[in-house]
Amino acid sequence: MQKTTASPIAIARRGLMLVLSSPSGAGKSTIARNLLDIDKQMGISVSVTTRKRRPSEIEGVHYHFISQREFERLRDSESLLEWAEVHGNFYGTPREPVENAMAEGRDMLFDIDWQGAQQLQEKMAADVVSIFILPPTMTELQSRLHRRAEDTEEVIQTRLKNSRAEISHWREYDYVIVNDDLNAAFDAVQSIVKAERVRRDRRHGLFDFVEKLVTEEPDL
Ligand code: ADP
Ligand code: 5GP
Repeated sequence: MQKTTASPIAIARRGLMLVLSSPSGAGKSTIARNLLDIDKQMGISVSVTTRKRRPSEIEGVHYHFISQREFERLRDSESLLEWAEVHGNFYGTPREPVENAMAEGRDMLFDIDWQGAQQLQEKMAADVVSIFILPPTMTELQSRLHRRAEDTEEVIQTRLKNSRAEISHWREYDYVIVNDDLNAAFDAVQSIVKAERVRRDRRHGLFDFVEKLVTEEPDL
C-alpha cells in the first residue's frame, strides 16, 4: 500500500484510562505487564497499599507499600483519586500522576478492583475504558493462585472466597475477556486499546486536521 507521507500523521487526543479488573489470579497483572513491555504509549498507575510486599515485588514499581496511618493521611487529604478495602487491605490510586498524564494526553493503565473501577467511572467517564478478565474455570483460577506461589494458603483461600463477589460485577465493564490462552487474551486487550485510541470523541485534534484537509487544494 502506498503511503502519502513519510511519517505518521499525529492527531492530538486525550489520554485514555485503561482499567483492568478480575478476581485475583485470573491474570490481569500478567496482561498488564505484557502490555507495558510492548506499548510505549502506555504508563501504569502505581497504587499505594497497606498489604505486605510479596517476595517478587519492588517498592515503587508494583506498589508503594505504606502504613495504615500514611494511607489514612493520603485518603483524608484528598490525595487519592479512588480507594478501596480489598481482601482485608487498603489500596488507592494517587491522584497527581493520573491528572498529569491526562493533561499531557498520555495513556494510563489501572490494575484495580470493581470498587475502584466504579469510582473512576463516576469521576472520569469520558476517559475510562474498562476491561474485566475472567478465568476459564474456577479450578484453573485456584491452580493459578497456587502456581503463582507468592501467597500463603490462608491468603489464597480468602481470595478464592472473594472471587465470586468480584466476578458478579462483570456487567459493569465495557469489555469482558476470558483469559484461557494468554496470547489470545493479550491480543484482545491490544485490539481494544488500538481501537479506543482512534475513537472520534477522544481526538480533539481532528477538528483542526479536518478543517485543514478540506481547505487544501490537491497539487496535481
Ligand atoms: P492477577 O493479577 O489477576 O491476580 P496474575 O497475573 O498474577 O493474576 O496471574 C496469576 C498466575 O496465573 C501467574 O502465575 C500467571 O503467570 C498465571 N497466568 C496468567 N494468565 C495465564 C494463562 N492464560 N494461562 C496460564 N497461566 C496464566
Ligand atoms: P493484589 O493484592 O493481588 O496486588 O491486589 C488485590 C486487588 O486489589 C486486585 O483486585 C487489584 O486489582 C486491587 N487493587 C490494586 N490496587 C488498587 C487500587 O489502587 N485501588 C483499588 N480500588 N483496587 C486496587
